[in-house]
Amino acid sequence: MIKNFLPNEHVKSIFDIQPSTLNERGIKGIITDLDNTLVAWDVKDATPEVIQWFKLMEDYNIKVTIISNNKEERVKIFSDPLNTPFVFSARKPLSKAFITVARKMELKKEEVVVIGDQVLTDVLGGNIAGFHTILVVPIVQTDGKITKINRKIERRILKYMRKKGKISWEE
Ligand SMILES: [Mg+2]
Repeated sequence: MIKNFLPNEHVKSIFDIQPSTLNERGIKGIITDLDNTLVAWDVKDATPEVIQWFKLMEDYNIKVTIISNNKEERVKIFSDPLNTPFVFSARKPLSKAFITVARKMELKKEEVVVIGDQVLTDVLGGNIAGFHTILVVPIVQTDGKITKINRKIERRILKYMRKKGKISWEE
């Protein structure tokens, strides 16, 4: 059970995730979270760096879909200019959105990575659904209301796993 909270990888930010490395590993698709993963939760639009990152993935034929527990308006306003498919109100950590998106991408689970900043939604959901998960450091330390509660639980889980020697990255 506890291993479902453990990401396969942990990186500082999405910019540490390179399409060439993904290609070498046979990865053809990315399912990514939005808030505090791509931009801060209270930033409306993609930054030039994020736009560049999406272009880079496209150049390498890596399909990207955004799945977010946030509302339609937020996710649509962000995703549309990037020409990226998205799922809003995804109800992560439930598996449904992850599975549906992989099917729409016409990719196998082994060909897709799940990226996100939260253990309780992105990592747990991605793991349960059977994907390779990558945890990123949240862009800002503040969060929306619901996330604040999740973070408290997350901190406890991370503390426990660190004690058990399951994780080695810096806080
Ligand atoms: Mg997030």
